[in-house]
Amino acid sequence: MLPVIALVGRPNVGKSTLFNCLTRSKSALVADYPGLTRDRQYGLGKVGPAPYLVVDTGGLTGEGEGIDALIAQQAEKAVEEADAVLLLVDGRAGLSSADEEIAARLRRSGKPLFLVVNKTEHLELSRVLADFHQLGIGEPWGISATHSRGVHTLMDRVFDAV
Ligand code: GDP
Ligand code: MG
Repeated sequence: MLPVIALVGRPNVGKSTLFNCLTRSKSALVADYPGLTRDRQYGLGKVGPAPYLVVDTGGLTGEGEGIDALIAQQAEKAVEEADAVLLLVDGRAGLSSADEEIAARLRRSGKPLFLVVNKTEHLELSRVLADFHQLGIGEPWGISATHSRGVHTLMDRVFDAV
């Protein structure tokens, strides 16, 4: 069985972009519309020391009505079946209360968690990462999914833990 790695985070942080980067595909829906990926999507991860399954999710919004609740359920399922969970946050937007809520829920899952700060290509990493320490899920790791920067090393770190 391949290890299963889930991508979780509030809408628009770049989960689908990272999914495409890891699977070297263009299949996930990437858009400027928050929450467009409505469902779970599986792909074969190719970036890293060994193969794995990567799961893109529609995002945990931290809110609980209608379609958002369904999407959140799908994300919860993805977390349940995962061997490791990458929590994506947006380095340009900075820490948000939705990030904090999602982090709290993920901590309760008991899964190995990795905090991934995306969209850092034009940012001063040390300053941005410091902000996210307070999420309490370990050392934040900066990447740029659109530039494939920091992604290979991230997967090396993840594999040390699964
Ligand atoms: P999702 O809702 O979490 O799946 O986010 P998407 O992957 O659909 O990306 C949302 C938006 O962020 C899109 O416009 C992406 O092009 C953009 N984006 C994703 N990764 C990066 C990145 O590393 N840098 C920048 N500047 N934009 C990014
Ligand atoms: Mg998406």
